[in-house]
Amino acid sequence: MDLGLQSRTALVCAASAGLGRACAQALAQEGVEVTITGRNRERLEAAAAELRQITGGRIRTAAGDITTPEGRAAALAACPNPDILVNNAGGPPPGDFREFTDADWQAALNANLLTPIALIKATVDGMIARKFGRIVNITSAAVKTPMAGLVLSNTARTGLTGFVAGVAREVARHNVIINNLLPGPFDTARVRAAALAEAKAKGKDVEELVRERAARSPAGRLGRPEELGAMCAYLCSVHAGYIVGQNILLDGGAFNSTM
Ligand code: NAP
Repeated sequence: MDLGLQSRTALVCAASAGLGRACAQALAQEGVEVTITGRNRERLEAAAAELRQITGGRIRTAAGDITTPEGRAAALAACPNPDILVNNAGGPPPGDFREFTDADWQAALNANLLTPIALIKATVDGMIARKFGRIVNITSAAVKTPMAGLVLSNTARTGLTGFVAGVAREVARHNVIINNLLPGPFDTARVRAAALAEAKAKGKDVEELVRERAARSPAGRLGRPEELGAMCAYLCSVHAGYIVGQNILLDGGAFNSTM
């Protein structure tokens, strides 16, 4: 299927590794000129070089922390009028809500709620004027199934889901389409980092714990980042103009419901 994205431009945030990188790769493979961001410049440039090699596409980089005004300014300077915006950033740490300070809450809300809103605000009117725009927010399966200990993530991402539910319907008539991707456990560094504390507490090896988690999934495995990347590219395609404000769960069937 031709996704109709040749020569479009995309800003893919937090994309030097993991799910963001997979989205960048899938878009570049469709002929999109992609700008990727990440805090560690060396890792970012290495990822860009790999993506150029794999896709043959034009990949720009904007080093910086996307959760800061400076990081966002650098990203938008490298890709001033994106046709496609993929919002992504690191997830907040786990913990007991009793232990979190106001600063912890502010950091989580800034990273996973206010940063995507700021980037949508900076880009959506240009998309409306050009009569084409696609925004995909990488959130989490935690939006549907709140996860124990992930209270910062559950709260911030649910806030973003509410924001998108309203705004997606305001802009859809201009062919500006906003949706969320909700990953369950995907095979990235993040999954291993998240398993580290539990592995220590249980005296287990991280890989053993990750294998156990994968085996509990109805799919019997973790998600592959390229599977999420492919869904992202489809949601950015010319074919997705009637999919508005949806929350697409990619969790191998872990969320158990009839519909
Ligand atoms: P990952 O493999 O750890 O990759 C994170 C990427 O984001 C790296 O390129 C990292 O590069 C970049 N990054 C992190 N914080 C950033 C920031 N403030 N500014 C710019 N770049 C930043 O993580 P992932 O598994 O792809 O997860 C991506 C998002 O999906 C996270 O919010 C995570 O919580 C969520 N999620 C993941 C899973 C899963 O199973 N993987 C499940 C549910 C939700 P630098 O460190 O160099 O900045």
